[in-house]
Amino acid sequence: MTSPSRVGIGFDIHRLVEGRRLMLAGIEVPHPLGELAHSDGDVVLHALADAMLGAAGLGDIGEQFPDSDPAWKDADSAALLGRVVALVARAGWAVTSVDVNVLIERPKLAPHKAAMRERLAGLLALAPDAVGLKARTMEGLGPIGDGTAVASHVVVMLCHV
Ligand code: MG
Repeated sequence: MTSPSRVGIGFDIHRLVEGRRLMLAGIEVPHPLGELAHSDGDVVLHALADAMLGAAGLGDIGEQFPDSDPAWKDADSAALLGRVVALVARAGWAVTSVDVNVLIERPKLAPHKAAMRERLAGLLALAPDAVGLKARTMEGLGPIGDGTAVASHVVVMLCHV
């Protein structure tokens, strides 16, 4: 018997380097550094995609979209997430809520949080109140605290449709 709901967890981390855009939740956040990655490096969308694939029993982002595939070079992670939404839907699941942590020392994300939530809600066809988004610093500790990395944790709830 198929259970009516599933929970998924996702995590991603990327180095922050000069000459790259800082993409978070499908939004470009103004900053001198951005994620070093094969794709656009959006840690929030990557953690979200992994959480969704995990909950649906569909593996992970690395299996579905290999780094070795030139199709994903500098790819828009929103397009990649759209593929994940379709895969998960084909398996009979839809996202009902999502909760996101972004771990970043700078810049402050407060001015961008509303746009990030709205973008996530749009990508997932959810009401904005079904999207949680928190930004935290690492209090100066480790590579995130040094400002040389950004990470995200995402939890999603799927319901069977
Ligand atoms: Mg990634």
